[in-house]
Amino acid sequence: MHPINSYLLTKTQCMKADNKSRKAYLIGSGIASLSAAAYLIREGGLQGSNITIFEELEKFGGSLDAGGNPADGYTMRGGRMFEKKFNCTYDLLSFIPSISDPNKSAKDELMEFHQEFFWNDKARLVAGGEIVDVTDLGFKERDRVDLVKLCVTPEKLLEDKKITDVFHPHFFESNFWFIWCTTFAFEPWHSAIEFKRYCLRFTHLFSTIDTMAGIYRTQFNQYDAMVRPIVKWLQSHGVQLQMGTEVTDVEIGGDEKHKTAKKIIYTQGGTAQQIELAPTDLVFITNGSMTADSSTGSNKQAPVLRTGKTGGNWKLWQKMASKNPEYGNPAAFCTAIDATKWESFTVTAKDSTFFDLLEEFSGSEAGKGGLVTIKDSHWLITVVLNHQPHFYEQPEDVWVWWGYGLFPDKEGNFVRKKMSDCSGEEILTEVLSHLHFTSPLPHIIKTSNTIPVMMPYITSQFMPRKVADRPKVIPNGATNFAFIGQYVEMPDDVVFTVEYSVRAAQTAVFGLLDVDRKVSPFYKGQYDPGILMDALKMLHR
Ligand SMILES: Cc1cc2nc3c(=O)[nH]c(=O)nc-3n(C[C@H](O)[C@H](O)[C@H](O)COP(=O)(O)OP(=O)(O)OC[C@H]3O[C@@H](n4cnc5c(N)ncnc54)[C@H](O)[C@@H]3O)c2cc1C
Repeated sequence: MHPINSYLLTKTQCMKADNKSRKAYLIGSGIASLSAAAYLIREGGLQGSNITIFEELEKFGGSLDAGGNPADGYTMRGGRMFEKKFNCTYDLLSFIPSISDPNKSAKDELMEFHQEFFWNDKARLVAGGEIVDVTDLGFKERDRVDLVKLCVTPEKLLEDKKITDVFHPHFFESNFWFIWCTTFAFEPWHSAIEFKRYCLRFTHLFSTIDTMAGIYRTQFNQYDAMVRPIVKWLQSHGVQLQMGTEVTDVEIGGDEKHKTAKKIIYTQGGTAQQIELAPTDLVFITNGSMTADSSTGSNKQAPVLRTGKTGGNWKLWQKMASKNPEYGNPAAFCTAIDATKWESFTVTAKDSTFFDLLEEFSGSEAGKGGLVTIKDSHWLITVVLNHQPHFYEQPEDVWVWWGYGLFPDKEGNFVRKKMSDCSGEEILTEVLSHLHFTSPLPHIIKTSNTIPVMMPYITSQFMPRKVADRPKVIPNGATNFAFIGQYVEMPDDVVFTVEYSVRAAQTAVFGLLDVDRKVSPFYKGQYDPGILMDALKMLHR
């Protein structure tokens, strides 16, 4: 480039010109990698054809999955709730054309959907087959004091502490706990640090926690509404997705002050291969995954619990961390499967009987009601009626709904088996029995296909931990590599969210490339007096 032209260009334009020929390798095809690839192109000026995403599975999207068809049944491991302040996610979706209309962004699709289909839950908790009155959230003065005390305790003092270490047993019987824990999937033995972060991060949602009015949803499941459109955008820019490729190691050279990724080692089709990296090449590593080793059951069969760590998800992180403790401590998250597993299930129905009954029972149309948690269920079952169609290509005469149970090791109240030992049909029987849908039960069972999925590490990111158990996004002195995803350390924000992975991606890309724009702002509602007042009022309801 001519020096005069260079002089007239902004720093970002110069940087983009320099980055054009750089290569980038991303490990994993979850939303963390997909968004990092998108930002490398959009903000970093890399050419899509110089970007490669390695994925060990044959399907991209990672935890943000959904699939199936009307004949075999649909499946989705999760249904994601967003809220107004998912600033990184909305920034990403603002430049991705939506699945339903290429002239509309995926963000616009979501926001327009929210205008009509916002939640107003009138049956947030159910017990004995009846709606629980949650006007009283059940706090005692001790619970309020404990909550406020937790919120002002520094994370360093909460290291390795569980939620049960910071609250009196009474707290876990309150309606607030049942609502909060099933909205975000907390269990009593999870990390007090994470629980504190959630309370602060979502202070602005406190006042609507029972109606869930602050929750935003995508129009279709998140694989259709997000993953497919992002991948289409990336592929239109030439990004390569290399499936069936397990990365087994990333070799880092240099010294403490300058750490540089030198080599990527991977296996594809059973053959070990490697890439020698130039110092200007970039590597983004998704370390760990909450859906690693998931297994799917069927209407007639329970899913198998896989405990063997089959893929690269944990192994790559374990290998890197064994060479340098700065890269974190995966053992804090992936070694206690009994504490991190739970099960979800997707029901594909041939008619609307269940929808009709639950709409009538809950007083809300599908897509407007929010979560319904069966508080007295031993498995702690939660179900939700999504707006239909929930799958982009779903026919009109098919209905799909979703649920999950937080305690799969307990025996059911009606089906006297552990949830983890139950087939889809047995899980559905338990749900219908709790709701007292007794006479239509045989018909619903006959016309539904319930597919359960066991996720051994689904709450691994919530396990009690030390601050240093997660690596920094850009480790000290790293010149060309970063960690992204749910198991990296970033201040304030909360894991088990799409937002966390996209924030990590922005932090990694903007930081390594020295991009002249800031990471999307982080909202701190606890400093807004109005929000704080509403939250305090809620604590006294
Ligand atoms: C049941 C459920 C409910 C959820 N609810 C919500 C919600 O309400 N709101 C919300 O915001 N979020 C929610 N989430 C969380 C959200 O989906 C995840 O946080 C997010 O999708 C994680 O994305 P990721 O890219 O960081 O990791 P992942 O999606 O886990 O992706 C990691 C990918 O990397 C691949 N990989 C890993 N290691 C290697 C390797 N060595 N070589 C090759 N490939 C590798 C894996 O196969 C995987 O595809 C939920 C998730 C689930 C499962």
